[in-house]
This record gives sequence, C-alpha cells and structure tokens, in this order.
Amino acid sequence: MVEELNEFKPGVVIGYPGTLELLTDEAYKAKLKIKPSLVLVSGEHLSDMTRAKLEKTFGCPVRSIYASTEGGTMAFECRYNRMHINEDWCILEPVDEENRPVAMGERSSKVLLTNLSNFTQPIIRYELTDRVIIHDEPCPCGKKGLWLEVEGRTSDVLYFRSNGIKIGVAPMSLADTIEVIPGVRNFQVVLHPNNEIELRLVCMKNADPAETFQRVKQRVTEYLYEFGISDFSIYLSKDPPRLHPKSGKFKQIYQIDGGAQDQ
Ligand SMILES: [Zn+2]
Repeated sequence: MVEELNEFKPGVVIGYPGTLELLTDEAYKAKLKIKPSLVLVSGEHLSDMTRAKLEKTFGCPVRSIYASTEGGTMAFECRYNRMHINEDWCILEPVDEENRPVAMGERSSKVLLTNLSNFTQPIIRYELTDRVIIHDEPCPCGKKGLWLEVEGRTSDVLYFRSNGIKIGVAPMSLADTIEVIPGVRNFQVVLHPNNEIELRLVCMKNADPAETFQRVKQRVTEYLYEFGISDFSIYLSKDPPRLHPKSGKFKQIYQIDGGAQDQ
C-alpha cells in the first residue's frame, strides 16, 4: 500500500482510521513519501490519539466525515470538530428504538436517512444503527444549519502474531468482509491471546447458524491468509454481541489484553 501511495501521490487521503493508523507504524512511516493536504476518515470513531498520530504521519489536518453507502457523505467535520450535516444532500432524523422522533440535543437509538440526491434508487427513512445527537446551536466556523455528534462503531486494530512477526489487521476491512456474507445479521469479533478468534454471531431469521458460521470461517480464513496469517483458530461463541467489558461501549471488533498487541 505504501508503494502505491508513493507512486500515486494523492492530494487527499480518505480511509478508515484503523486502516490509516497502520501506516503510522514506524516501519511504514519511514517509507511513506506523500504530502496530502487533507486526510479524511470515516466508518469508525476517530480518537484524539489516532487523530494526533495521523496528523504527525501525514503532516496535514485530519477530519472526519459521516458517510454510508446509502447516503454518501452525510456530514463533514469543520475545524471546530463539529460534524455539519449536508442538509441539501440528505435528511437525517434521530429516533428512539420505536422509531419515535428524538428531540434536538438528545441522544437517539438510531437515525433514519432520506437521500435527496439519489434518483436511481430511492432511499427514504432508511435505518442506520448509529446513535446520534443533532444540534442546532451556531458553530464558530460560521456554517449555518444542523450538526451532529455520532456515537458510531468503534473497533480496534487486531494484532496477530504469526511465525514470530506481529501483523496488524484493520478492523473495518474485516467487518466489510463479514457483513456481506449471506445469513449474517450482526456480529462481533474478539481476538483472544494465541490468535484465537471468537465470533459472536446473530443470523438472519431464515439462516442456519452452523452454515452461516462455516461461511464466515471460510471467508475470514481466506482474508487472513492474504495477510500471511495462517496459524489461528476461530470458533462460534455461545454469546451474542456484547458491550466491551471495560469501556462499556459497543466495539464490533476488539482484542483482549494479552494478545500480540502487548508482546
Ligand atoms: Zn463548524
């Protein structure tokens, strides 16, 4: 990836924070020769620590965008770190579990998206499972209209140890791989010490859990092989996806302490 970036010399770099964070690793950083004017991240929560690491690596501002396949770029972060909604592009309605509207300034359970710009595939009140808070207070940047806070998915980079080498795997790419597998409704991946992967799986109504697990196992195995990781095990958990035991927040993909990360 570093060689391709160096050759392409992008003016703007867009990616998942977890993927770009892999490039902040000293070994890659030394080889990276690009000078983008802006780095945009989406898909995962951007922590202050990751933002600082990315700014140092790329030498430019790092901003978040709130984006989805169905809605495109729905909001973008200004220099005051507020996510301004592209109100001429989409409507975002914060709602509770029962789809009842949630007031301005209160946290929603999900958000309904109406895309005003896609005339080929109408998207009307499409459910996104992000918790958001919508605000109407003015922002010092001068941009008028609504802005929002997103409590989106958070995940960790997974560090495997294979043949004595530590190999980092970006969580969102792994999530993209799993979520499109037929039968998968929701899932959580927990990496335990010794490269042991626990898969917590919720299947679609008519899907067979054992068959769905086999499909996930097969795909994850192929995916990790691409990184040169072959000495791992994967098992179907008895538990459904749960909140993180320490932070109390939902992390879709994370690592239990004691894995390769700490060695
Ligand atoms: Zn602003």
